[in-house]
Amino acid sequence: MPIDYNHNFKCTQCDYSCSNESNFNKHTETKKHQRRLHNVAHTISYNCSTCDYSCSKLFNYNKHLETNRHKSRLLLESKIPNCSEESPGEEITPLKI
Ligand SMILES: [Zn+2]
Ligand SMILES: [Zn+2]
Repeated sequence: MPIDYNHNFKCTQCDYSCSNESNFNKHTETKKHQRRLHNVAHTISYNCSTCDYSCSKLFNYNKHLETNRHKSRLLLESKIPNCSEESPGEEITPLKI
């Protein structure tokens, strides 16, 4: 993969990229960037990897754990067999002529 030398510095929070460090440092000082960083840090604090659910408050997260959606997903996940136990595919029976 070719390296993009023109945009070596990237800010994933703001979709900002630039070619030199001083510009990038300037960017990290901007209010726009600070606000984004702040928002990200404060919006997603609790994450349920089972459901791809995330929220900012423990109260909401606890609520989520009680939902049927979460419970059924949890159940589904626990039922998924391990990779070591490969289930055999459908057996193909040769046609008798
Ligand atoms: Zn930024
Ligand atoms: Zn969940």
